[in-house]
Amino acid sequence: MTVNGSVSFWWNAIGMPERRPALPGSLRADVCIVGAGYTGLWTAYYLKKASPGLRVVVLEKSFAGYGASGRNGGWLTNSVTGGRGQYVASHGRDAAHRFQRAMNDSVDEVIRVAALENIDADIVAGGEFTVARNAAQQERLIADAAAEQSWDNTDVELLSAAAARERIGVEGATGGMWHPHAARIQPAKLVRGLARVVEALGVEIYEDTAVSEIAPHRAITEHGTVEAEFVVRATEGFTAGLKGLRRAWLPMNSSLIVTEPLAAELWDSIGWAGREVLGDLAHAYMYAQRTADDRIAIGGRGVPYRYGSRTDSDGSTRAATIAELTGILHRFFPQTKGAAIAHAWSGVLGVSRDWSATVGLDTTTGLAWGGGYVGTGVTTTNLAGRTIADLILGVDSELVSLPWVGHRVRSWEPEPLRWLAVQGIYAAYRAADRSESAGRATTAPLATIADRISGRVKA
Ligand SMILES: Cc1cc2nc3c(=O)[nH]c(=O)nc-3n(C[C@H](O)[C@H](O)[C@H](O)COP(=O)(O)OP(=O)(O)OC[C@H]3O[C@@H](n4cnc5c(N)ncnc54)[C@H](O)[C@@H]3O)c2cc1C
Repeated sequence: MTVNGSVSFWWNAIGMPERRPALPGSLRADVCIVGAGYTGLWTAYYLKKASPGLRVVVLEKSFAGYGASGRNGGWLTNSVTGGRGQYVASHGRDAAHRFQRAMNDSVDEVIRVAALENIDADIVAGGEFTVARNAAQQERLIADAAAEQSWDNTDVELLSAAAARERIGVEGATGGMWHPHAARIQPAKLVRGLARVVEALGVEIYEDTAVSEIAPHRAITEHGTVEAEFVVRATEGFTAGLKGLRRAWLPMNSSLIVTEPLAAELWDSIGWAGREVLGDLAHAYMYAQRTADDRIAIGGRGVPYRYGSRTDSDGSTRAATIAELTGILHRFFPQTKGAAIAHAWSGVLGVSRDWSATVGLDTTTGLAWGGGYVGTGVTTTNLAGRTIADLILGVDSELVSLPWVGHRVRSWEPEPLRWLAVQGIYAAYRAADRSESAGRATTAPLATIADRISGRVKA
């Protein structure tokens, strides 16, 4: 029997957390953070490390790690959200280069802090492995690898079909690429550990406390109002639920399945000894990891978007999505056909209208924010937390000069346009993938058109 929802496999594997108390009533703080995911907790961590005397309060509508931070695919990798190309155009190549370096450093920083603070998050720094499985994907693989190699610090290696299969035995692989700036993590272990560490530093986390509205220097809840010089909005994919922010970031859905632990003989034929995070070059792409207890977790966009920016209920996932992800698993690794699917779940991530992430602080209202990471938030949230802390503390660091700081984007279209646009884009991606799997030798034009319509920028 496949467990469906229950937040995520990651939380079920370590046991659901005991709830912390709700906000006891109105209070004053120096900094109020709304949302106890990685963005909120990293911000709290760096603020308290730099300035231990600050009163930092975190308000969380459910429990710390309830959102994407406790549900994701566990890819800690160095991607610049939406690609570096946009920053070359807006700020020049040097700024884009600094951003890439900051992302590489952020991967190392998460690993460093986890070790320093005794957070065991099953981290294995095996790098990121991307596989191509048809001619059109192979064409994109070669182009992407060449584009990556034109930058310093990306350290991408192009792999032949034989070399790729030797690392991870993906059926039908025509080639691959790999870079070292990535690690596999157990997401819930990281967020649980971070919450513990910030509490030990004196941060107050109040759970079951939903913020209904963020106003200048105030966060309003049914339990009371927190007044603070700075309020940090760290609600990512849930931001549409806050007053006045329905069209700011689109809540994009992503779903995962995980197998039961696989037998040693299966691993003999699959390989994957390096525990690389694994992705592909389909337009509706997949992402996967080999877990610490030897399962395969594999994810993708099932129902990409729900009408009216609604979010799922505790991660419950449609049967069709589970079947679709199981199909990908079996195509990639036919030896897993007899393995049970132990758990399926979903979550939401935030997508801005131009598919790029943003972080910033409005000094007149005291409102700071970080989000719009699309599918790359596991690492970017760390950079966001360090950057927001510097902005609040007025530290004129290298981080606050990165090109995503203060980036503002227009809102998404009202419904039904928003829903129709996302359905159309994903239908086009799926059709493009089908035609490429059926033998088309080059990237299907439908996918390129969908990229243009969506405003999605490629590196
Ligand atoms: C299924 C899935 C797979 C993913 N895989 C990857 C991956 O492998 N690698 C990667 O880099 N990224 C991945 N991502 C994206 C990444 O997980 C997110 O970008 C990142 O976790 C965002 O962290 P956050 O703290 O900003 O938001 P969240 O973790 O979503 O935290 C927001 C918190 O705010 C709380 N909240 C919301 N509204 C309110 C309110 N009104 N009042 C109080 N609290 C509120 C929520 O309950 C939640 O705890 C994935 C996302 C999903 C959903």
